[in-house]
Amino acid sequence: MKSLVSVRKSSEYELAGLKEIVNNCMEDLGGLKSMINRSDKVLLKPNLLRSSNPGQAIVTHPTFVEAVAELLVDHGAQLSLGDSPPLGNLARVLSKSGYDNFMKRLNVKPCPFIRKRSLDCLNSRLFRRLELAEEVFEFDKVVNLPKIKTHSQMGLTLAVKNLFGTVIGTDKASWHLRAGKNIDSFATVLVQIYEQISPVVSIVDGVFGMEGNGPNSGKPRRIGIVAAGQDAVALDSVIASLLDFPVDLVKTCVVGSDLGLGVADPEGIAVVGDELGGFPITDFERPKSMTMSWNLSYWNPFRRFLENHVITKPAIDASICKSCGICMNHCPPGAIKSKNGMMKIDTRVCISCFCCHELCDNDAVMIVEPYLGKLLSKVSR
Ligand code: SF4
Ligand code: SF4
Repeated sequence: MKSLVSVRKSSEYELAGLKEIVNNCMEDLGGLKSMINRSDKVLLKPNLLRSSNPGQAIVTHPTFVEAVAELLVDHGAQLSLGDSPPLGNLARVLSKSGYDNFMKRLNVKPCPFIRKRSLDCLNSRLFRRLELAEEVFEFDKVVNLPKIKTHSQMGLTLAVKNLFGTVIGTDKASWHLRAGKNIDSFATVLVQIYEQISPVVSIVDGVFGMEGNGPNSGKPRRIGIVAAGQDAVALDSVIASLLDFPVDLVKTCVVGSDLGLGVADPEGIAVVGDELGGFPITDFERPKSMTMSWNLSYWNPFRRFLENHVITKPAIDASICKSCGICMNHCPPGAIKSKNGMMKIDTRVCISCFCCHELCDNDAVMIVEPYLGKLLSKVSR
């Protein structure tokens, strides 16, 4: 049987319209009652990377989450909403990102991720053990609510990647460190997290998404869709195609399909919903760092050359940097040092995870693409 993905057009954040569209998506997938029982305890997991104005397209839009929440409340579910933002506590991010009013109105309880649960993975998996938020496992169902965004390390951050938020706070950095520069390894961590959390459905906010150098400082872009599926790998694969983004560059789709946790091949996916005239979006701007999706062993003789002349790297703009130290304190391998109050990146130590770019509120971390890398990425498009 094919994996079902629903894609519906949606041009604005208007509550009643969005609620109807989300409901139509659920009907396309077999109806809400086929997934969630009345009185189920349901956890909503939006993308709450950091406190931001919803117009910046950094977080899942509050009106989108409100539409989903209202639908679930009408259905009889008891709702909580959780995430573990890398910076700042959940209450602050919710308040600054416009979530407070509707959560109060619909009695959606905030669920900060604090306690850890250690989970054994299948012997056949690369990582045998994961530590995720205990709270997530206290619900009957998880509804995953990602935002369509580019991601300077992983290409796109969609349904599978959104569940990385169930890794508590600074533990995220240790996963970056364990995976190192190997994008396939990091994709495997993300896919194994998806396997453990197993959300009942993912509903993606693609009314406005982010293009360019996401997930923190890309540009908001109207995409005009809401998409949903129970197979997050298939869902991500369909969205990538709609953005004219090669699915084999979305490593979570490749690894998820290889591990048998979802379908990435269009032949195995049935897309239902609206007619999608105007797609794919052929000028959707990819992040600069897409040229770095090679996994270079330490002994590769071309490694140093590629690192210097091809692979995209972060650099700190001293004229904007406020020397707050956040990037330094969260850099997984400790590649950022403060020298006379100035932040410097040791590119020999840097693993190009772009956490610094993701976390800098001042947009002081630039993504620098060497000339040869720029040339190669143009040729490969
Ligand atoms: S997080 Fe940004 S502002 Fe703070 S030290 Fe790093 S680059 Fe500078
Ligand atoms: S300098 Fe930035 S990109 Fe490099 S390892 Fe540190 S956080 Fe990651």
